[in-house]
Amino acid sequence: MIDAHHPSLTSVYAADPARYDNMIYRRCGKSGVQLPILTLGLWHNFDGYKSFETDRAMIRYAFDHGITHFDIANNYGPPYGAAERVFGQIYEQDLKPYRDELFISTKAGYDMWPGPYGDYGSKKYLVASLNQSLKRMGLDYVDVFYHHRPDPETPLEETMGALDFLVRQGKALYVGISNYPTDLTKKAAEILRELGTPCLIHQPSYSILNRWTETDHLFDITAEYGMGTIAFAPLQHGLLSSRYLNGIPEGSRASLDRHLKKDLITDESIGYIRQLNSIAIERGQTLSQMALAWVLKDNRVTSALFGASNVEQIAENLRVMENLSFTAEELQEIDAVANPFMEFLKRHS
Ligand code: NDP
Repeated sequence: MIDAHHPSLTSVYAADPARYDNMIYRRCGKSGVQLPILTLGLWHNFDGYKSFETDRAMIRYAFDHGITHFDIANNYGPPYGAAERVFGQIYEQDLKPYRDELFISTKAGYDMWPGPYGDYGSKKYLVASLNQSLKRMGLDYVDVFYHHRPDPETPLEETMGALDFLVRQGKALYVGISNYPTDLTKKAAEILRELGTPCLIHQPSYSILNRWTETDHLFDITAEYGMGTIAFAPLQHGLLSSRYLNGIPEGSRASLDRHLKKDLITDESIGYIRQLNSIAIERGQTLSQMALAWVLKDNRVTSALFGASNVEQIAENLRVMENLSFTAEELQEIDAVANPFMEFLKRHS
């Protein structure tokens, strides 16, 4: 076990024998796969610039507490590829003996390398990208390979065909799609089903402050096609946590103005954050725990995919499991704050 305050790491890692005692696992759609209700994402903070030892401590701590699923993409960093490289180093040093206990995902679909073959959804791009990802991570295969976003120009048959091809090559066990709207999700699921490689999972953004999946009825379609879902950015990049209760702390994402705009932290937004925080306290939770519980209240959401910058945040978030249910009154109270907060975010987007 790693002490959250003193992550002095031994070079030989032995996973905590109690790692499966407290985590809850949910079945991913109608598949054979179960995922932890919390997944650690490596989009931020695994960039090769911050402390490698902090990254290593976070991965170890997560795995020691039953987080078997780590979510990555080809371009997470910066620079592109850095998160996969950092994960690969940690895998080599610590996790290799546990490969069969891990569920590792990567993706391709956004800008990755120059020229016409390093972006969007061609077979040329997806196949080359997964080959590169496997090299960076030192893996023989990933557990799930995603198409990261829809491509308006490449025929969907080609993109889904590339996913199917990679599964048949043994380079991915399962496939997923991310950021696909509901109509396209249905088409993609149908093509994949016909190819004999059913779509395991959809990765949409979803949080108290981001509800497009509800208005677009995404979870009805994913359920109909037997897919699981994993909600990314359930903490709205940190807004739904204690991070900004008292302004912008140094080193936080907003302080860097990177993927959370500094000018979103105003007296008005801090007011909403504090109101949501009070509701969480009434529930005996922190705000980040309430935000994670909120996306998990729908059983069609298999896992909440959060990011963290230190072990303490992971430790706090793991305690979501102590209260996962909501009363109708609590949900109404949350909506009463979330509605004007979402309007605020729209005005500032
Ligand atoms: P989150 O909503 O999970 O926000 C994470 C940030 O919240 C952390 O970096 C940290 O901020 C803060 N935080 C987390 N826990 C706590 C806590 N207990 N107390 C205080 N602050 C806390 O979203 P992310 O943007 O990190 O996304 C999560 C993952 O989702 C990514 O890593 C990636 O895997 C995936 N993703 C997928 C996308 C897609 O297109 N498919 C797009 C975006 C993300 P700080 O760093 O300031 O400490």
